[in-house]
Amino acid sequence: MYRWDRPAYVSVGERRRKAAKAAAKIMKKGKNILPVNVQGRKISTTFWGQAWCRHLESFSDFANRLPRGRTYIRNGSVIHLDINTAKVEALVQGSALYKVAVEIKELDRKKWSALRGHCSGQIGSLIELLQGRLSSEVMRVMIDQNQGLFPKPKEMTFSCSCPDWAVMCKHVAAVLYGIGHRLDLDPALLFKLRNVDHLELLESVRVKPGSGCRKAHIIKGQDLSEIFGIDLADSHPGATPSRADKDGSNKNKKLKKR
Ligand SMILES: [Zn+2]
Repeated sequence: MYRWDRPAYVSVGERRRKAAKAAAKIMKKGKNILPVNVQGRKISTTFWGQAWCRHLESFSDFANRLPRGRTYIRNGSVIHLDINTAKVEALVQGSALYKVAVEIKELDRKKWSALRGHCSGQIGSLIELLQGRLSSEVMRVMIDQNQGLFPKPKEMTFSCSCPDWAVMCKHVAAVLYGIGHRLDLDPALLFKLRNVDHLELLESVRVKPGSGCRKAHIIKGQDLSEIFGIDLADSHPGATPSRADKDGSNKNKKLKKR
């Protein structure tokens, strides 16, 4: 029995051709576009991109709907995706060209302060941060579902110009994966999206003795590892990696007990 409501099959090649044609048409008008080109099966291959995708998939509200976007993103159907502060705008080629917008709340200031506190002195350089070369503790807090950098479903609103608009259509789902792929290329966009300055994570935040709150004491990132190296060695001799005495006794332990 023929199903009238079943969409006609469109091959991958045909989808790609259609998307490329739509992109060329826009560029001919002198407009800049930022297409998403996924190579191979994996949508995302780096720490931040994969963490973004995993985070979204971890919510049951999204988990059922997101897979519909995977084919679209792999087919090159997201012909434009632009990440800005608290907003992502995109064009997705489906049976027609659809305009998608994802609005994301800026990161809560208290959460950001807490993240800065956790990361203080833990990230050696901008490259380490952007490449996700982080200690397991820093990584854990950064990607924490509730307290980390990524938005929760209630902090996100979607819109799409397609006629079959639901809470999340396949075009929006494709754009959400597209963000993950774009973070592979430029991880700093995640911080831009949440309206926070990632360079602040390279600063040292010191806790005043006796006070419950953290006060920022700024040391620019470039000098951080150097200064920190000296601090660790000079000011906390007991905290340096313990070296067992030649005779086997452990003086550090004895000192701590006093
Ligand atoms: Zn749609």
